[in-house]
This record gives sequence, C-alpha cells and structure tokens, in this order.
Amino acid sequence: MNRIYLDSAASTFVSSEVLNEMMPYFTNMYGNSSSLHSFGREANDALDTARERIANAIGAKPNEIYFTSGATESNNWALLGIANFYKNSDKKHIITSQIEHPSVLETCKQLESMGYKVTYLPVDSEGLVSIAELLHNLNNDTLMVSIMSANNEIGTIQNIKAIAQTVKERGVIFHTDATQAIGAVNINVKEMGIDMLTLSGHKINGPKGIGALYIANNVNISPIIFGGHQERGLRGGTVNVPGAVGLGKACEIACRDIIINSQKLRRMRDYFVDKVMETIPYVKLNGHKFQRLPNSICLSFGMVEAEALMMMLDLEGIAVSVGSACSTGAVEPSHVLKAIKLSPELAAGTIRITISKSITKEDIDFVVEKLEVIVKKLRAISPLTKASIGEFDNV
Ligand SMILES: *Cc1c(COP(=O)(O)O)cnc(C)c1O
Repeated sequence: MNRIYLDSAASTFVSSEVLNEMMPYFTNMYGNSSSLHSFGREANDALDTARERIANAIGAKPNEIYFTSGATESNNWALLGIANFYKNSDKKHIITSQIEHPSVLETCKQLESMGYKVTYLPVDSEGLVSIAELLHNLNNDTLMVSIMSANNEIGTIQNIKAIAQTVKERGVIFHTDATQAIGAVNINVKEMGIDMLTLSGHKINGPKGIGALYIANNVNISPIIFGGHQERGLRGGTVNVPGAVGLGKACEIACRDIIINSQKLRRMRDYFVDKVMETIPYVKLNGHKFQRLPNSICLSFGMVEAEALMMMLDLEGIAVSVGSACSTGAVEPSHVLKAIKLSPELAAGTIRITISKSITKEDIDFVVEKLEVIVKKLRAISPLTKASIGEFDNV
C-alpha cells in the first residue's frame, strides 16, 4: 500500500544530505570527541563544525551551543538549570504558557514542588499569548520566562520578539522552545533578545536523540547531567557525535531552504484546508489563521471521534495524529485545545495533520477523498447531533 505520512510534527525522516554527512562518524571516524589523539580530534572537529552550523542558523556564537539528547532534555535543563543556579536567590517565580510542550509543563510542576510559583499564561482562541497579560504577571520575584516559539498541536507562532523584549526590559531571563519553529520562522537570538533556545534534530529531518540548548554567554546556569567535562563542563556524557553532525547539517539545510520550503508548504497546506472546507461540512480549523506554521493543519470535525477517524485513515495508509489528546484512551481533551477553549465535543473530533515538502496535490486529493467518506461513516453512527456542536468555519 502507498502510505502517506502526515505527522511531521511528531517526527520526520532523516534527509539523505544529513545521513551522508553522518555516516562516516558511525564507521571510520568513531573517536571520542574528548580524546586527545587524532581519532578524538577529528570527532571534535566535526562537533566544531556542527556547533557553527547551529549557531549560524539562529544567529548565536558557536560556543553558546550545547548538545543534549533532544528538546525534552534541553527544556528540562533550561528550567531546572536556571532554578538550580539561583537556588539561593529570592526570585522564586517562573512564567510560562498553558500550551507548552509537556517537557516544559512537567518540569514546571517539578519546580512547583520545589517551592517555585509558576504562572501559566492563558492564550486567546487562536493560541496567542498576550503581551499585556505577560507584563501584568512579571514582578520582582520573576526569575525566568519560558514561552514556546511555535506550538506543536495547533501551529500558532508567537510574537517571540515582542515577548522576549518585554521580558528583557524587566531584566528577566527568557527561554523559548523553538523545536517546531526552526526552518519555518526566521530566528536571530541576538536581535530578538532570546537568552536560551531549545531545538531538536528529528523535527527538522535530522536524527532522533539529539538536540541542543543555546545558552547566551552571559547567562548563568547549572548542569543537570553530571559527569565528565564535556560541553564546557555543563553537560556530562560522551557527545553523540554522529547525531550532533546530523543536527548541524539539518539546521544548516532548514535555514538555507526556509523560504522555498515555507512557500511550498503554505501553498499545499492552504490547498488542503480549502479542499476539506469545500468537501466536508461542520469543520473548524484551529490555530492562528495566518501566524501559523506552514505545515500545520489542526482540524476539528463535528460529530466525529478523532481516534476512530485516525484509525480508519491508518487503514488507508494515511498517518495523522490526534495530538496529545486522549493519548491514554481516556477522553480528556489535550491541554492545548482546552487552552484555546475548544468545546469538549469539538476537541474530541480534532486531528492534527502536519505535512512535509514531499506531499503532492494528488496525495491531498486522495486524503480528502478518504476523509470525506470516513467522516460520513462516523457521523452516521455518531450519538452527537449538530445541535450539540459549537462553532464551525463551514456548515
Ligand atoms: C517534539 C517536541 C519536543 C520534544 O522533542 P524531543 O527531541 O523529542 O525530546 C519539545 N517541544 C516541542 C514543541 C516539540 O514539538
């Protein structure tokens, strides 16, 4: 069966350019980058190149890039590392948003259990954090603010520059999880005033299990992984050299191709959404109408159960996601859909479609055709009625 992958926000394939760059570091050049002999030096040289490429992609300096095992570790480190460094200060307040990735939200819960007060900023119905709300909550106890650049469920892109500047004006440390934004949004950490930034390999056609944290040179942070002197003594453990090489190349390509990729994705995304809206009634498009990731289509289908829809699409070889909704089988709307105040009925019928640049119009036509048939089938057996459903973009 010809399969169609529409879950790029969950993970992506490793591009051949990236894989080719990595291969030698699995085979001939297997030295430990901390070793002083020639094998070690060539591995270390590869890390230097990778660091430079990542730094260039976000406007940082190479010595501000630290390799981690992925965005989850980077987010844990950003929050816990700052809290640990400043553990003896009076600043015990942290601000984040209600729509962050669980690797931020769960870390914040941990910090709450350690005596921190955490403010979870609400977002509007399109998923935007309000600057006024942020300003209102910043106070003399605020140690740091962490707001994601772009959301992984609804694709909304925050006004990161304005947010960063608001935070910087108050002398507070600003971190952003840019895992979904790299390659889609132009980021320059110096121009934007970002102190720390999280990114990950496997969301940008790089390998899994590798990520980075940008930490501006003037930011003080403690390690959370203790061991050897790797990463300037701030992150123990032998560096994943092939992974780091892959991450470096993936960042370089993502930035090199940002305009052409975004244009193509946006065109395909809008074709997809228009086609769905023309073909299927009672559908709502979530996230910001314009300020949205070029690959992101989060759709709520009235009178439909998203899990059933996802599974029936899967039988046709079409891979979509129900987001982080109902991941355990419990019918609990995702925290993001709750935060944008989607009704529980609509949240239960929400799927996330995230396209890649390899998608064609034929693929989209095929998917929408299948969607139409499956949605009809599910609605025919749905106990929900039109009257029980809230807002739609089309009826
Ligand atoms: C995928 C994702 C993460 C987690 O990344 P890993 O590298 O898989 O740990 C964190 N934040 C966002 C926004 C993501 O999309």
